[in-house]
Amino acid sequence: MRGMAANQNLTRRQFIATSAGALAASQLPGAESASDKLALDGGEKAVAQKMPTAKRWGEPELQQLGEAVKQDSLYYWKNKQTTLLTERLQKFYPHKFIQPCSSGSAALHIAVAAAGIAPGDEVITSGITDIGTVIGVLFQNAVPVFADLEPATGCLDPVDVERKITPKTRAIIAVHLAGNPRRLAELKQIAEAHKLILIEDCAQAWGALYRGKPVSTFGEIGCFSLQDSKQITCGDGGIAMSSHETFGPLLTKFGDKGTNRFNPPDTATALGANYRMSELHAAFVAAQLTRLEDIVTKRSRLGNLLTAELVGVRGFATHLVDSEDRCSYWFYLARLVPNELSCDRAQFTKALAAEGASFSNGYIATPVYGMPMFQKHAFFAGHWPIRELGLTAMDYTKVLCPVTEEILKTCMLFRVNEAMDEDYIRAVARAVRKVAKHYAV
Ligand SMILES: *Cc1c(COP(=O)(O)O)cnc(C)c1O
Repeated sequence: MRGMAANQNLTRRQFIATSAGALAASQLPGAESASDKLALDGGEKAVAQKMPTAKRWGEPELQQLGEAVKQDSLYYWKNKQTTLLTERLQKFYPHKFIQPCSSGSAALHIAVAAAGIAPGDEVITSGITDIGTVIGVLFQNAVPVFADLEPATGCLDPVDVERKITPKTRAIIAVHLAGNPRRLAELKQIAEAHKLILIEDCAQAWGALYRGKPVSTFGEIGCFSLQDSKQITCGDGGIAMSSHETFGPLLTKFGDKGTNRFNPPDTATALGANYRMSELHAAFVAAQLTRLEDIVTKRSRLGNLLTAELVGVRGFATHLVDSEDRCSYWFYLARLVPNELSCDRAQFTKALAAEGASFSNGYIATPVYGMPMFQKHAFFAGHWPIRELGLTAMDYTKVLCPVTEEILKTCMLFRVNEAMDEDYIRAVARAVRKVAKHYAV
């Protein structure tokens, strides 16, 4: 099938290659020289270099862990490593209230609980994200409502967010997908107009800036992940942050068994999980933070370079980042433009892989609302109590987010990392131009 489609387009492709295509290629930076023959067909690889990988921890982490080991307690409350971590975090994120915890999902659960989201309340968020964005919403018996996304970024489309607001809406969770903060001024305006709480899911967005200001400082609460794949890590961990006088102190309450540590002795007045982070993890993260600015400066420069090299390439859509913002590129979100190519995405990424450029064939398999537990409304042992009790009429089989689905069908992720350099990125861009040119119609 694929071979047939390719053959039918051969004449057209040859025509493009000998006329307009050749002209366009000669105008591109680093015009193709040696061979246009795909590595897949036995041609020379566009990327000769092996993919660089970063050495992500070493002496500073070892030294800081050593400090923790000298202590006689590894419990977090008012202890040395947690204090150091908090001080270092505050240099990037000037919040009064910072609660280290066990994961990004935990940070988001803490945020939803601290915000006082009640059973049956609705929380508007994105269908392209880690399931961790909505785990806490579901555990609080609230209802995730999915709004559609901007095609070029996969972040919330404020117009659709506003459309999804009902009298039950209490909060918006804005996911800064891939570390690209988007439309925060508009989302904040909508939140204020409808008296909603804005929670920022910054799990993929360490070091990202919106209009020069750090993410987490626009909404009432910001949540970060320290899971192994994120820009900085301790294996698993998370941070919830806020400067809000009401919600801020509650981050500790809901991260630490529902107790009020600021005002002991206390009696538990609400149900909270134990999401505490130990001193060992805090020490590791405190050391990781000394690398953050360097990591993000590099990723941001490399991701933007990839866009500069590839903007205007037929069949390939670049990751839209506003020049006023800093995207910290947890990944680079490229998209295939199906009607401009004679091949499908699997063939395109296969050809890229043969060139030595690694792009994923998609991201999550379905939007979050398409996952089986949503489609079956079966979150708790086959049940969804709030639906059975009539507190929500949500039907996830009827969610309509066409842009979300289109992005997932066409996206190709490139994992930018700080060990890469400009030459490597230019080689990857050469691979994309070569493959796109080959399949262009
Ligand atoms: C990673 C991630 C989470 C969850 O973080 P964990 O530390 O894995 O629990 C939540 N939201 C987004 C957008 C993420 O990328």
